[in-house]
Amino acid sequence: MPPTLHGAAPHYPGGLHQVGDGVFAWLQPNGDWGEANAGLVVGAGASAVIDTLWDQRLAREMLGAMATHLAGAPIDLAVNTHSDGDHWWGNAELPAATEIVTSTPSFAAMLAESSPAELGRLGAMGRRVAPVPGPVGAMGRYVGSMLAPFALGDVQLRLPSRTFSGTSRETVGGRALELTVVGPAHTPGDLVVHVPDAGVVFAADILFVDCTPVMWVGPVEGWIAALDTILGLDADTFVPGHGPVTDRAGVQAVRDYWEWLRAIIAREHAAGRSPLDAARAAVRDDSFTPFRGWVRPERMLISVTTIHKALSGEGPIGHSPVTRGRLFADVAKLGRELEAAR
Ligand SMILES: [Zn+2]
Repeated sequence: MPPTLHGAAPHYPGGLHQVGDGVFAWLQPNGDWGEANAGLVVGAGASAVIDTLWDQRLAREMLGAMATHLAGAPIDLAVNTHSDGDHWWGNAELPAATEIVTSTPSFAAMLAESSPAELGRLGAMGRRVAPVPGPVGAMGRYVGSMLAPFALGDVQLRLPSRTFSGTSRETVGGRALELTVVGPAHTPGDLVVHVPDAGVVFAADILFVDCTPVMWVGPVEGWIAALDTILGLDADTFVPGHGPVTDRAGVQAVRDYWEWLRAIIAREHAAGRSPLDAARAAVRDDSFTPFRGWVRPERMLISVTTIHKALSGEGPIGHSPVTRGRLFADVAKLGRELEAAR
């Protein structure tokens, strides 16, 4: 198997995998930063694509691999599951006639996100300051390598053409796709796609499998409720936003992670610990064992910060480059500590 986008040995095969009758998952192992999954549902004479990856080169490669299935069934509909660029910045590669749908809060968040050019410049800046000693260099190395595999500077943004709130039942080539807004959780407007006739759910970033989830917005209670919504659907196959395809036990494992983290951070917050010290306590605890092997354990600090801020009555993590830069410096620090403790 070829190496992952980040140059690691893959834990499972990437590419197009059939997960149901005419239903496919496009996987980018190992679910590290930007290694996002997508999906395809092929109906009679028309298809739907779920998410379009972080840059147009990756989207082109994916659509090329889907071409044999699309020959008699062009893409009538694309769904963007949420506002993070690694799930929709490939939209410009879709046919001009494709209708693109997302949730109303995701659309608003897409407009508020940093642009591809800004993020591309942040990556270049990170690589430039990487040799600087101390937290600036640490942040630079981390953010620089996180963004390095992606051609963000070349991305032409194409926004969704339609939004909805609550639920939306779409029909594509005679097949039903049930879209349900389950956010805010990972981002402000997360949605999941259920394909009832195949028993498949595209859960996007409500599910991270064998890789550490990232909660930018929360609340954690909302994410747990979203997982319960997914478990309530008539389905046995779940395609995560990052990581390999899973079953109901895989959904439950993410639920267990949030219950565990919520309890431990509540304890550490009550003891007056900072988010970084709370995360350090969490990874030192024996109860961390089931989650220790997940890719990028240090991403926990982002979720810890979100939970910590909610417990302090504060809003979610801000968008400013200074705020995010400081946070990533600490994420990198926790990553080094975890590496050293291995
Ligand atoms: Zn993602």
